[in-house]
Amino acid sequence: AKAAGRNCLRFFDPEMQSVVTAHAQLEEELRQALDLEEFRLFYQPQVDDAGRLTGAEALVRWQHPQRGLVGPLEFIPLSEQTAIILPLGRWVLEAACKQLVAWAGVAGTAHLTVAVNVSARQFRERDFVAQVKAVLDKTGAKPQRLKLELTESILLDDVEDVITKMTQLRAHGVGFSLDDFGTGYSSLSYLRRLPLDQLKIDRSFVRDVLTNPHDAAIVRTIVGLGKNLDMKVIAEGVETEVQWRFLQELGCHAYQGYFFGRPVPISEFGRASDQRYAA
Ligand code: C2E
Ligand code: CA
Ligand code: CA
Ligand code: CA
Repeated sequence: AKAAGRNCLRFFDPEMQSVVTAHAQLEEELRQALDLEEFRLFYQPQVDDAGRLTGAEALVRWQHPQRGLVGPLEFIPLSEQTAIILPLGRWVLEAACKQLVAWAGVAGTAHLTVAVNVSARQFRERDFVAQVKAVLDKTGAKPQRLKLELTESILLDDVEDVITKMTQLRAHGVGFSLDDFGTGYSSLSYLRRLPLDQLKIDRSFVRDVLTNPHDAAIVRTIVGLGKNLDMKVIAEGVETEVQWRFLQELGCHAYQGYFFGRPVPISEFGRASDQRYAA
C-alpha cells in the first residue's frame, strides 16, 4: 500500500510531501499504539433533570510514552481517513462494554449507561450490527445500557441501510443518540425516519445560550423537535449552574459538561471532588 501511495505522487510538492509523510508516520504510530494497548477511555458524567448521575460518555485518549496524554482531536480525524478507526472503534466499544459489566456488579451503579462514539466509517461496515452484538455477547454487557452516538454525517450514506442497522440494534436493546446535533446536514425528513432515542445538542449552542437569544431559540426548537419525534434531548458542554437551570427551563431532559464533571479515568469517576451531580 505504501508503494502504491508513492506512485500516486506524480508531482513533487515539498509541502504536500511532508504532510503525507507526517500522516503516514502517525498512521503507523496509531497501529503500534493499538498493539501496545496505549489507548485509554475517560468517562464524563451524564445527569438527569434532578442532577442524578445516569451514566457516562466514553471518550478515548492516547497515553503516548513520550508525548503524554493525547486528545482525540489529534488522532481521530486521521484515524477516520485511514482504516485505523475500525480496530480502534472496536477497542473502544469493547472497553466501554467491560466497564458496563463492572458497574453491573456493584450496588448503586448497575443502572448506569455508557455512551460510545461511533464514526460514520465504522457504522458503514457491512457487519457493524454483528460486531456490536458480538462484543455484547463476549463481554456480557446489557444492550439496554449501551448508547451509540452517531453524527449527522451518517446521513450522507445510504439512509435505508442506516435505518436497517439502527432498527436491528434497537430491537436488540441498544439506544441511539444523534451527536453534535444542529451542526450538520440533517434534513428533517431524514431525521424523522431515523429510530433515535435522543438528540444531543451541540456545545456551540449551549456556550452562549444565556446571552444569545438565537442560541436559546435553537435549543427551544430542538427540544420541540424532540418532543414531536418522541426523542429525549441532552445538552452537552454545560459549564455553569445558570446554564443548567436555563436549559432545564427550555425543556432539556439530560445534561453533560464540565459543571457536572470533566472526562476522567474510571479510577476517578464518581469521586472527583468537583463533581456536582446528586448521589
Ligand atoms: P464529542 O463527542 O462532541 O465529545 C465531547 C467533547 O467535548 C469532549 O472532548 C469533551 O471533553 C468536551 N467537553 C465536554 N464537556 C465540556 C464542557 O463543559 N466544556 C467544554 N469546553 N468542553 C467539554 P474530547 O474528549 O476532546 O473529544 C473530542 C471529540 O473526539 C468528541 O467530541 C468525539 O467527536 C471524538 N471522540 C472522542 N472519543 C471518540 C471515540 O472513541 N470514537 C470516535 N469515533 N470519536 C471519538
Ligand atoms: Ca459524543
Ligand atoms: Ca458531542
Ligand atoms: Ca460537540
